[in-house]
Amino acid sequence: MRIDILTLFKDMCLSVLSESIIGRARSNGLVEINCHDIRDYTLDKHNRVDDAPYGGGTGMIMQTQPIYDCYKAVCEETGTKPHLIYMSPQGKVLTQERAKELAQMSNIAILCGHYEGVDERIIEEIVDEEISIGDYVLTGGELPALVLADCISRMLPGVLPNEDAYTLESHFSGLLEYPQYTRPYDWHGMTVPEVLTSGHHANIQKWQREQSLQRTLERRPDLLEKAELSKKDKAFLETLK
Ligand code: SAM
Repeated sequence: MRIDILTLFKDMCLSVLSESIIGRARSNGLVEINCHDIRDYTLDKHNRVDDAPYGGGTGMIMQTQPIYDCYKAVCEETGTKPHLIYMSPQGKVLTQERAKELAQMSNIAILCGHYEGVDERIIEEIVDEEISIGDYVLTGGELPALVLADCISRMLPGVLPNEDAYTLESHFSGLLEYPQYTRPYDWHGMTVPEVLTSGHHANIQKWQREQSLQRTLERRPDLLEKAELSKKDKAFLETLK
């Protein structure tokens, strides 16, 4: 899969994308993530990429021309028209489900806004989808773009050691994950739940499923409405209510 990030802060994105699991996945060719500096495409002789809003108001708006030309260059480079996502607090809030769908695409591009955002006409002309990472506002789209790129990339084949590494985690199956422990067995007088040291695989799985259900009920009961639950799951939840 190839992801192209269109940004005014390329180095900020690259520094994150060069680290840890995603950094290794990129080096190993498991995912291609490129960052493009929108400013490189401005035709303004002073290298400007933004201007004051029509109608007045605080802040600056990113202009259409540099973004459009940057996107066109990405299209030419890839030989296709990547699905263009504009990171925006006005978009649909990102979910694991949507990230799974995006991970099936071969080419996506992500546009990062900054300042007061982008000229609305660029959204009308080239943006396929707007995604928000939550109901709050950040200074720019770089952190949201990195969140999206990370979330998608870790589900690509080979990026994590195996599918369990992401399918058994919170949200993938619609539930929150069970609590986890590692050595030492006894820490600050708190010991690890006995069942986890029993070696009894079936009991461990039952405990983990029940903990997962209990946590979801306590912390995110809204998720239970959509989650796939067995008769056993439902019966267990009834005992908690
Ligand atoms: N004026 C915009 C509004 O009120 O909807 C907010 C602009 S924000 C200060 C600047 C940029 O940060 C946006 O263009 C967007 O790319 C990014 N951004 C801020 N919050 C975000 C969020 N919750 N999710 C995704 N992107 C966000």
